[in-house]
Amino acid sequence: MLIVTEETCRKVMTRPLAYEAVEAVFGAMARGDAWNFPVVREAIGHADALYGFKSGFDRASLVLGVKAGGYWPHNAGKGLTNHQSTVFLFDPDTGQLSALVGGNHLTALRTAAASAISINHLARKDAKVLGMVGAGHQSQFQLRAAAEQRGFERVVAWNYHPDMLPNLARVAEELDLPFEAVSREELGAQADVIITITSAHEPLLMKDWIRPGTHIACMGTDTKGKQELDPEILAAATVFTDEVAQSITIGEAQHAVANGLIAKDHITPIGAVINGVHPGRTSPAEITLFDGTGVGLQDLAVASAAARDAGEKGIAEEIML
Ligand code: NAD
Repeated sequence: MLIVTEETCRKVMTRPLAYEAVEAVFGAMARGDAWNFPVVREAIGHADALYGFKSGFDRASLVLGVKAGGYWPHNAGKGLTNHQSTVFLFDPDTGQLSALVGGNHLTALRTAAASAISINHLARKDAKVLGMVGAGHQSQFQLRAAAEQRGFERVVAWNYHPDMLPNLARVAEELDLPFEAVSREELGAQADVIITITSAHEPLLMKDWIRPGTHIACMGTDTKGKQELDPEILAAATVFTDEVAQSITIGEAQHAVANGLIAKDHITPIGAVINGVHPGRTSPAEITLFDGTGVGLQDLAVASAAARDAGEKGIAEEIML
């Protein structure tokens, strides 16, 4: 059994590796070769923590496992990340534990890979301006991964807490992209691609602010009650997601579905585009939207790639159970 620590994950997991692993599993999900099991998420009545499991099986790449962890809101005061997780991988032939993989760094990379995949498959090829809504921990990973997908010339950004924007500005500077803090309306008027990655519980972008041809990767809404967009945007857009069942229950589409603006069949798994079954964007004026809810199979895919790479490089500890 391999132990792949957070530090080892940082050494072996790259953005291209994460992109490749997540794209492959989205394709497998859309073919019916991989599926996620029901998510467990519970308030444990201690330390204000939310704890749970995300699990699944990818029969195409034979990856079986579970990500266990959750959200401990008081960790920051202890110098720890609030989101904590560990991935357990099992041998699908025997059920034996094959690897324990630190899940914190991998979660950020697999989430950024998902929106990057959506940009690559759905954004206009001539997209020049990237709009960032959110400036927290995930946003920096999102910006780096998105910047690799198109020839962006500048970044415009808005955040609820403006004092956090310099963290994102520093990443843009590293990437040699001019950065400007703007209002939400200006962001909609200027951006060709928009990433939302906040913990908002109400719409941050209104439909009238979004231009034809925009691609939106809506990444922050991963729980019932969270919301980042005016539901009318989903009604006007061609909507894609990682998993339709999550999109309509805990993803951004929960609100448009609850309001009766769209039905489940308005939403396409992005794997169908990856597999060439759905054309994706069909016109330069179309608004495309990716509802990235975060599925367990994404975690298992990147954890498996990290374990394989660390094993091959001999930098994972091997123990007998
Ligand atoms: P963070 O705590 O580091 O940052 C939170 C962000 O939300 C900041 O930009 C903050 O200013 C903003 N924010 C807070 N309250 C707000 C409000 N009331 N209105 C608007 N914005 C507000 O969190 P993070 O780790 O960067 O995660 C951001 C979001 O992404 C969270 O909701 C998290 O659950 C979600 N997430 C989704 C996935 C996925 O796969 N879809 C994966 C990881 C995290």
